[in-house]
Amino acid sequence: MKTALTIAGFDPTGGAGVQQDLKVFHHFGVYGLSVLSALTAQNTFEIRDIKAIDKKFLEEQLFTILSDIRPDALKTGMLFSKDAVRAIVKVIKGFDLQNLVIDPVTISTTGTALLENGVLDLIKNELFPLSKIITPNIYEASILTGVRIEDKEDMQRAAKELKKSGTDTIIITGGHFNNDELKNETLDLLYDGDSFRYYRDLKIDGEYHGTGCAFSAALTALLAVGLSVPSAVEKAKKFITKSIKNAHELGKGMRLLNI
Ligand code: PLP
Repeated sequence: MKTALTIAGFDPTGGAGVQQDLKVFHHFGVYGLSVLSALTAQNTFEIRDIKAIDKKFLEEQLFTILSDIRPDALKTGMLFSKDAVRAIVKVIKGFDLQNLVIDPVTISTTGTALLENGVLDLIKNELFPLSKIITPNIYEASILTGVRIEDKEDMQRAAKELKKSGTDTIIITGGHFNNDELKNETLDLLYDGDSFRYYRDLKIDGEYHGTGCAFSAALTALLAVGLSVPSAVEKAKKFITKSIKNAHELGKGMRLLNI
């Protein structure tokens, strides 16, 4: 059986972070391994508190599981601290792990920072060069590159800029455009350094929790079973659209994806 590892945060709703990732891995028939980088106290409308897992214990989790099982693919989600990034870089190099998917998580839909100052730069400089694909949304791609993204051309400029970080491939997910041409659509851009490929779909109204987590987890599972990046992106996108369409309204805030 193929295996995938998620290194991410704990979310009591199960709608994001490790629990969400494990559900997605299971959906694709991949055995899920998980290592916790941070804990959150959150519900569907707010994040009240965050605690980083201390460096030593995070390293202990990583070395213990990886000295036993080698994942076919892995992803990182909410990393929160510089210590977490450094520990992950160390194990990826030490165990020569392949098929790394990075979701460069910055801020929650509800507006809470999911990382400390300076962490994103460290992720970009140390972790991106080790990755198969990075999955920023347009907001994250903007902060990472300094490119203001309002249309397709801006997306391309940001993707080219991100390629310089040393990642193999970039998918910028554009579900949140405001301009007239794109406000009713989602537009994602895949760039491998040679060609651009767009994925377009109709936007579904409403606020949904954990869409970025689920998308990157789907990509990870699909890479673990051996799909090429473009096929994995296509399949992951269809899966997310379906999960959003059938989402559960269980709390007072965002809807939770139906995996
Ligand atoms: N909590 C955790 C643990 C996460 O990993 C993330 C996103 O990566 C979030 C919350 C935020 O999710 P969203 O912005 O989709 O609500």
